[in-house]
Amino acid sequence: MSKAESTGKSDRDKIAMSEQEWRSKLTPEQFYVTRDHGTERAFSHPYHEEKDAGMYRCVCCGAPLFSSETKYDSGTGWPSFFAPAEDGAVSEHEDRSFFTRRTEVRCAKCEAHLGHVFPDGPKPTGARYCINGVALQLDKGEQGDKASK
Ligand SMILES: [Zn+2]
Repeated sequence: MSKAESTGKSDRDKIAMSEQEWRSKLTPEQFYVTRDHGTERAFSHPYHEEKDAGMYRCVCCGAPLFSSETKYDSGTGWPSFFAPAEDGAVSEHEDRSFFTRRTEVRCAKCEAHLGHVFPDGPKPTGARYCINGVALQLDKGEQGDKASK
């Protein structure tokens, strides 16, 4: 069961599960996107045009990632946000696949691949977080920063 994926240090709050555990927890498409760095087809997921208010959580671990308040219609066919729910909610990594340079966005808590961030978003941040709908779970019961701790 143990995959050779130890980081050497125990990051607090991090979630580490084996590939097998994720497979049993996620649907094949969720696994493909979040653990295998896949990309859903544009316009394939209803969240790209979702208008309801709420918190978009990580489909893997439930961490709050993006608030509906930062969601906008980018016309790309993927859910797009101009900012994460809070600083540190997502982590950014350079992605050199496909011979291009993009910045990959992952859930900071469980390392789920979410999508990419591009510098052509709207004000006030100028960032466009282009996120796979299957990586998200809209929690309509919680809005913005009403953190219930
Ligand atoms: Zn997560």
